[in-house]
Amino acid sequence: MADGDTELEARLVEQEEFEPSEEFVAQANVSDPAVYDEFEENWPDCWERAAEMLDWDEAYDEVLDDSNPPFYKWFTGGKLNVSYNCVDRHVENGDKNRVAIKWEGEHGETRTYTYQDLYREVNEFAAALRDLGVEEDDVVTLYMPMIPELPIAMLACARIGAPHSVVFGGFSADALATRMNSADSRFLVTCDGYYRRGDPLDHLDKANEGLDGVDHGVDATVVVDRLGDDGFGHDLKGNQHDWDDLLDEHAGERIDPVERDAEDMLFLMYTSGTTGQPKGVKHTTGGYLAYAAWTSHAVLDIEKEDTYWCSADIGWITGHSYIVYGPMALGTTTVMYEGTPDFPNRDRLWDIIEKYAVDIFYTAPTAIRAFMKWGSRFPEQHDLSSLRLLGTVGEPINPRAWKWYYKHIGNEDCPVVDTWWQTETGGMMITTLPGVKKMKPGSAGPPLPGIDAQIVDTSGKRVDAGRAGYLTVNKPWPGMLRTLYNNDERFIQEYWQEYSDVDSNDPDDWVYFPEDGAKIDADDYITILGRVDDVINVSGHRLGTMEIESAIVGVEGVAEAAVVGGNHEVKGEAVYAYVITEEGQDEDDEMRQRIIEGVEDAIGPIARPEMVVFTPELPKTRSGKIMRRLLEEIANGEELGDTTTLRNPEVVESIQRQVEGE
Ligand code: ATP
Ligand code: MG
Repeated sequence: MADGDTELEARLVEQEEFEPSEEFVAQANVSDPAVYDEFEENWPDCWERAAEMLDWDEAYDEVLDDSNPPFYKWFTGGKLNVSYNCVDRHVENGDKNRVAIKWEGEHGETRTYTYQDLYREVNEFAAALRDLGVEEDDVVTLYMPMIPELPIAMLACARIGAPHSVVFGGFSADALATRMNSADSRFLVTCDGYYRRGDPLDHLDKANEGLDGVDHGVDATVVVDRLGDDGFGHDLKGNQHDWDDLLDEHAGERIDPVERDAEDMLFLMYTSGTTGQPKGVKHTTGGYLAYAAWTSHAVLDIEKEDTYWCSADIGWITGHSYIVYGPMALGTTTVMYEGTPDFPNRDRLWDIIEKYAVDIFYTAPTAIRAFMKWGSRFPEQHDLSSLRLLGTVGEPINPRAWKWYYKHIGNEDCPVVDTWWQTETGGMMITTLPGVKKMKPGSAGPPLPGIDAQIVDTSGKRVDAGRAGYLTVNKPWPGMLRTLYNNDERFIQEYWQEYSDVDSNDPDDWVYFPEDGAKIDADDYITILGRVDDVINVSGHRLGTMEIESAIVGVEGVAEAAVVGGNHEVKGEAVYAYVITEEGQDEDDEMRQRIIEGVEDAIGPIARPEMVVFTPELPKTRSGKIMRRLLEEIANGEELGDTTTLRNPEVVESIQRQVEGE
């Protein structure tokens, strides 16, 4: 630990299981262990419990239509509107003055939207979109940073039945163009710029460059004026409209929420592309919202009286399901912030938690590792006692980071939910129900009620407790992706082919394959080992990249490491290590040697890195994951695949130069 080595800390290091407090359990939304059996015995009708959390315009006929696997349909015949469920019904039910969004900008400015405020702006913007020619089923692209206009635009799209495709604001012009082309999207909502570490960034310039790469006509672009006087003086082009002008023009207008079929598309989300060409994941209206609402209730334990904060970006699925749709379906207060955790200071997040008395906090291991590196003195400057529950998502969290989070943020008083899920799953799949289950740091937990996840070997047979294998999901669930946009074939190929009998029409023969390795223990707790392709085969030995990285990070002076396999004439593959050192550490042969020895000591000579490359940064996705595919391509001197989904594309060239210079 960075600081504060106490007896307590020593005890935590040893402890492998943690129980939620009685106080937490007593107030938890779900605390009856029978929920697991109830879901299993009553499957698939158990999912009515999720559907009942929504208001339907027309009741559904069937919970699940599995007549054409893997093209499952949920709540068929049902009709509903997502913006009605996330906004109108709270206004109608006496909660119009409850705060929906608490927004905190980089310079400390704040904006507060009650559900009534949200209702007004969502309606006005929906009216504006209609007026600009957006029709039901037209895909609207939203290329925006973390400003309130982003969720407002999402809800306005949902109101008129226009699916949105949110492109992470940090992505390049190219990434925007590729996605607009892929989705045939003729409408764009963006902004002039935003602040990052104190400086205004020119976003519209990037958006315009992206628009130049769109190979069909673009009917209209809406531009939010975020920067005001700090702006870059852009003139809007002929088909570009100012957000505020549009709202003024449509002030007070009301748009009836369009009745959408449960299976109509709500949004497209292109996955981050850690492993290759972005995939247009299609999510629908009924199943997705029911699943986001149910998991927000059962796992995040959200109640409408809470102040809830997920510090992710809305440009990532986590922000869709657990900043916008899940929390707002429950009518709670959701916090949004612009910027980064270390600007203006490294206590930014703790400052926000204290200021708004946040009850529930959900973040990613990449952030927790940074907090740990900075040290516990930053959270210690703040009163975090309002917190009741903590969550993490995005990567495996190592026990040391889990315990740091549990102790220094949660004061050993808040359950931690380590939630495994994917863009494709729509919502959480494997994690503890915090009011029911004990926690085991490092393990996500058992599959949620109604989720049939198993760990199998290459032939699809279940592996024994303690053995590693491949994670599969053997039954459909309401939040699942329905297909890849315009590409049913790739949908089957990417996710089903591996373990399914693709010629069968029997749903029992269809198995979803998330492409993650995992192991399971005697209590059914699943530990995710990482992506299947993050395995290096050295002379026939299969080595997990995570294990080698752990060994390297254990060497004094190392801050972070990424390991990939590079082609090797003799060994098949060899270990390439990319290392970020701590400030003040010399990057010399002595350091290289210590790293190599560290790996040999921890794992064995077989894992000995062939090459150690020092780098100031690693290529990362919007969710903070290392893009190992790129590092592998660099190691092999191959042409680089898609780099448009990096949040820091400039590091690639500098790493390339170093490897070539070695
Ligand atoms: P792409 O699919 O485009 O390569 P991606 O997989 O990084 O990108 P996401 O859908 O955001 O895009 O991430 C899902 C993946 O993240 C999971 O398949 C898993 O590998 C990892 N993951 C998410 N949550 C956890 C968790 N709690 N524990 C371990 N791994 C996790
Ligand atoms: Mg993935």
